[in-house]
Amino acid sequence: MSSITDPEYLPVMESFYTIQGEGFYSGTPAYFIRLGGCDVGCVWCDVKDSWDASQFEWFSVGQIVKEAKASGAQVVVVTGGEPLMYNLTKLTESLKASGLQANIETSGAYPLSGDWDWICFSPKKFKAPLEEFYSKSHELKVIAFNKSDFKWASEHGDKMNQDSQLFLQPEWSKEKEMTPLVVDFVKRNPRWKISLQTHKYMDIP
Ligand code: SF4
Repeated sequence: MSSITDPEYLPVMESFYTIQGEGFYSGTPAYFIRLGGCDVGCVWCDVKDSWDASQFEWFSVGQIVKEAKASGAQVVVVTGGEPLMYNLTKLTESLKASGLQANIETSGAYPLSGDWDWICFSPKKFKAPLEEFYSKSHELKVIAFNKSDFKWASEHGDKMNQDSQLFLQPEWSKEKEMTPLVVDFVKRNPRWKISLQTHKYMDIP
């Protein structure tokens, strides 16, 4: 029996071993666990199929981690959907017990659970993030979809820890229009770096 409050079971939309295409770990082989369910509602979301958690089968943490370990990966990226809709304490305990590095990608809209090696915080305009993510995250990744996103990025970047990494990423469908603006922004604000969705250029998941 599984439920949204039972950390032993999680709804998995898909899992696969690939290359992390974005952000600080770009270029790193990583096993992705995409949990189903998200109510953040980004208009440009490229995984809208993930939103309805009821479509996905729930798997035990033991089974999820066994498959991650069997992939041969050293780094695991838990993503979604919005993975922190679920209590991920058991998942990170089990990943670490298996010698795997536990990374997460989150919008920060739900309370942090789990003990993570790397937290990539990607706040969205569509649902406000919780304050705890500014101090606890290792990486801020802001998606640039239109010109107003640069001011918004700066406001969030100013709240992050000084030793955190700041990335600005052109939204894929507006990549031609936004990339020159992102280049210009990063040159004027050198604490920031550019993140590109390199997996899409490589045509891998
Ligand atoms: Fe899509 Fe992520 Fe936004 Fe949820 S938070 S709507 S999964 S881009």
